[in-house]
Amino acid sequence: MANLESNTSSSLIMPGDATATCWSCGTMRAVHFCSACGKVQPPVPVDYFTFFALPRKLNLDAAVLEREFYELSRKLHPDLCARADKREQEWSLEQSSLLNDAYRTLKDPIKRTEYLLRLEGVELEEQSKTATEKARATGEIKKQVVPPDLLEEVFELNMQLEELRMQKKLGEDDPALVEEIGKHKLELEKKYEALLQELKTYWVEWDQLLDDAAEENRRKIRDKMVDLLNRRSYIRNLVRDVNEALEN
Ligand SMILES: [Zn+2]
Repeated sequence: MANLESNTSSSLIMPGDATATCWSCGTMRAVHFCSACGKVQPPVPVDYFTFFALPRKLNLDAAVLEREFYELSRKLHPDLCARADKREQEWSLEQSSLLNDAYRTLKDPIKRTEYLLRLEGVELEEQSKTATEKARATGEIKKQVVPPDLLEEVFELNMQLEELRMQKKLGEDDPALVEEIGKHKLELEKKYEALLQELKTYWVEWDQLLDDAAEENRRKIRDKMVDLLNRRSYIRNLVRDVNEALEN
């Protein structure tokens, strides 16, 4: 992608920012190091996309990202002998760790999506955390909302899991039931995999909307992604329950 092809120094900090100039030579600095003298700069609070000089798009070229990561790792490496200044060495350490976090987050499709949604003001963890705390306070079992397209399947599966647990308690063995549950599990795993493909169609929509001023349009696609991530975690938890029931 064109945006990544450019030199990393293109992630310039905007003028007016107090930290916009290089501590060493006074030239306009980049996020990580000075494009004029090459010295590593103290970290500034930027998001991971900015760190890599990327627009907030969800489709990105993994190969280019990786290349950029290795390039920056080399330039920011704390052990470079050129780092005579103690401060510069410390900043190298901090920048390198920032680089690793940014890379790990952006290269993973799900982490990338979650991260972007959080940047966009969606509080994914917060929501589930609140739900957990509320459930604990009221003594209820935390209930995730069953995705509508799974209602029937989940209902049937839960009955079968209940039956299986009961049988195990009684020391009975029902291979047919185990096989049925195994089939459900396989279906769920297929759906889980398919969600990534679905998510990618939303990425395309999101990227096209990047410069769309209409908040409503952006919110629509944001909601679709949140809904998909919820369905995804629902299925993951369900498969975990199935595995537990089968193993115990
Ligand atoms: Zn400089």
